Amino acid sequence: MLEFLFPKKCIFCERALPAGAAIEVCAPCAGSLPLFAGDYLMESGRAPNDRGCDRVICALRYSGTVRAALARYKFRARREYGHTFAALLCEKIRRVTAAAPGDGASGVGGAGCPPAIPSAPLAAPSIPASMPAHALALAPVFDLVACVPLSRSRARERGYNQAAVVAAGVAKYFEVPFAGRLLLRDEQALRQSSLRLAERRANASAAFRITAADAFARALSGKRVLLVDDIATSLSTLNACAAALKGHGAACVIGAVVASP
Ligand SMILES: [Zn+2]
Repeated sequence: MLEFLFPKKCIFCERALPAGAAIEVCAPCAGSLPLFAGDYLMESGRAPNDRGCDRVICALRYSGTVRAALARYKFRARREYGHTFAALLCEKIRRVTAAAPGDGASGVGGAGCPPAIPSAPLAAPSIPASMPAHALALAPVFDLVACVPLSRSRARERGYNQAAVVAAGVAKYFEVPFAGRLLLRDEQALRQSSLRLAERRANASAAFRITAADAFARALSGKRVLLVDDIATSLSTLNACAAALKGHGAACVIGAVVASP
């Protein structure tokens, strides 16, 4: 009944979808989304003591309809979009994970972060038909899912953390715990969007901390963390969060973002 009165709309073009659509992407948009072509936005070429992300997985190019949909998601209270963004990101993570050899346990987040294995070239848009809770037959490749935090004041003004909504969906899909409050953003840190790149880097490393009182913080040692954000324009935020996680003992941090330019 609710769906009859308020039909679901495609998050990209806002056309009404047929009743019962599992994720909110219409067929024409599914066929024309700017998918992120490679497996990784960033692949580790890091020094062993570098504490940034080991790898960063990206689902979509931040352009056109994707950019507009993410803006509505963040600034126009379309919190429900998070479910569909999570489904799109899960599909990309699943592809990258499935490409790794072995039983699945050695995939992307396998012990000690093994070398990246390229997946098959992306021949056609790959949109999941739905996001069932038990879609994955793979062994868990991450121990927990965390998200890039918002400052308290920003969270208050928006009403939700857009990265957390996507991350919670991803955690549910992979059936691993969601550590939504593990990372904390320093209230005093300057707003990223008003800073130049060099300033952002310096600023980011000071801006993130582990919530010491969080239950996941006490058990972080040796854990493989999937760190979710909505948009990565530079990698400074993801790397700063990864450094905080590794500073508390995380063995491996794989970033996962919905979109990047
Ligand atoms: Zn559409």
